[in-house]
Amino acid sequence: MDKKTRICIIGGGPAGLSAGMYLEKKGYTNYTILEKLDRVGGKCWSPTYNGRRYEMGAIMGVPSYYAVHDVEEFCGITHDGPKLNRNYKNGKGDVIEPFEPKKNILKIPRLLKMKKQIKKLGEILETKYKGYDLNGHRGVAEGRYEGFSQTSSKRQPVKGENPNLKDLCMPFKDFCKLNGVELTQDVWIGPYTSFGYGYFDEIPAAYVLKYLDFQTCMNFVKINLWTWKDGTQSIWEHLNEKLKNPARLNSNISKVERKDGKVFVTVNGKVEEYDKIIITSPLYVPNKRKDGLVGMVDYFDAREDEKKYFSKIDYERYDVLACETKPEDHPEISYYVFDNMVPEKLGHLMVYYRRWRDTKDQVITTYALRKHRDRKEIPYEECRQTVLDDLKTMHNPASNVINEWTVYYFPHVFSEDYAAGWYDKVEAMQGKYDTYYAGEIMSFGDMDETAEYSRELVERFF
Ligand SMILES: Cc1cc2nc3c(=O)[nH]c(=O)nc-3n(C[C@H](O)[C@H](O)[C@H](O)COP(=O)(O)OP(=O)(O)OC[C@H]3O[C@@H](n4cnc5c(N)ncnc54)[C@H](O)[C@@H]3O)c2cc1C
Repeated sequence: MDKKTRICIIGGGPAGLSAGMYLEKKGYTNYTILEKLDRVGGKCWSPTYNGRRYEMGAIMGVPSYYAVHDVEEFCGITHDGPKLNRNYKNGKGDVIEPFEPKKNILKIPRLLKMKKQIKKLGEILETKYKGYDLNGHRGVAEGRYEGFSQTSSKRQPVKGENPNLKDLCMPFKDFCKLNGVELTQDVWIGPYTSFGYGYFDEIPAAYVLKYLDFQTCMNFVKINLWTWKDGTQSIWEHLNEKLKNPARLNSNISKVERKDGKVFVTVNGKVEEYDKIIITSPLYVPNKRKDGLVGMVDYFDAREDEKKYFSKIDYERYDVLACETKPEDHPEISYYVFDNMVPEKLGHLMVYYRRWRDTKDQVITTYALRKHRDRKEIPYEECRQTVLDDLKTMHNPASNVINEWTVYYFPHVFSEDYAAGWYDKVEAMQGKYDTYYAGEIMSFGDMDETAEYSRELVERFF
């Protein structure tokens, strides 16, 4: 492609900004990033409270976040945030140590079995499911893998046939049963369901295992994690400052028309002309949201195939509250509440995060899911109240809520559409209307998977 190609990128989150960075590294300088809000970072949102930044969105990374590492290198920054730590509570608010045999004498046989199954899962992922951990979902439903190896920062293109990969289309719970590793869910559920990515009986195994590949999950277990002092938003603020063309904030896009090999974008009432467009903002938002967020099908001249496939996308209703507490009620540490990570406890507090250990004058943040595919959605206000009641049960009552957010979280498709080849059909549409699709739905809803997908998109098509 001509390096002077005029490229419009919609969205100034990790996917959009890193698309700009990788394009720039490849010699494309004629790109424009349009961001709807008055800030960059998207779901990496780190507001300030009492002089420090707390996290309303993304919190942490792992050492295998190679794309985030590319960004750090590009900007000359590093992961310099507070060390994470955590403990566990049951639904009644008692501190528990579910993985400590000495504290769970009766559960020792189960814990031993679990350990064996974790080892087995590690082995079959490397052998039977070779190719499972590539970024994106190309070929999985057809029993192929295609992408770039993720074992080091020097990614190599890899490709191959593996019919077993089709198993990744089924919900993770069924996948575990099929492979006799049901107890591994006890470990994977912590960094999966409580982080808002849905329940194992409804989410295809591909999402679970591409995000929580074996190594990444073990990093969570060992708390080998990265954070940033000024919050994850600061990563993207630094990147935005370094880019030749920083994101244009407060860009209200009312219309996008693609005709005669050109893309016409109406921004803040004025028509701008481009050659190509990369969308990192939502493709489809199934219900009306109070924040006015809409999908591309709502303001693009969406074609029939775009409408057909994107209408299959659903997302999680994941709610975050930032709460003040009295110093005496402030938690010692962050807590995971496993009892509340099951669909029957929809709308309950699953995890709460204490970020700063040297002070009690900072906020804590709480996390709850209120949607499961087969259940009635819990209304926002009801969930909010339940979470505040749960904090009391946990002996860490909130004195005030200072910030709250119900997130358009983890867009995904369900098993039947995944198995019917949703990803291969959408991947085949890349570039068809001078349009490229990136962001969370194309890979997974975390900082690194989205940035890595942008890297590969640039590598493949530009
Ligand atoms: C509570 C929470 C906890 C999380 N924890 C972690 C974590 O610990 N680690 C991790 O790696 N990830 C975490 N994530 C996920 C991570 O933040 C996201 O996956 C990542 O930000 C996705 O990047 P993106 O660019 O694809 O999308 P987004 O971050 O959603 O960015 C999309 C951007 O597009 C903009 N936009 C939307 N519509 C339009 C439009 N019409 N026109 C112009 N711009 C538009 C948005 O304003 C936004 O800036 C968390 C997210 C949340 C909410």
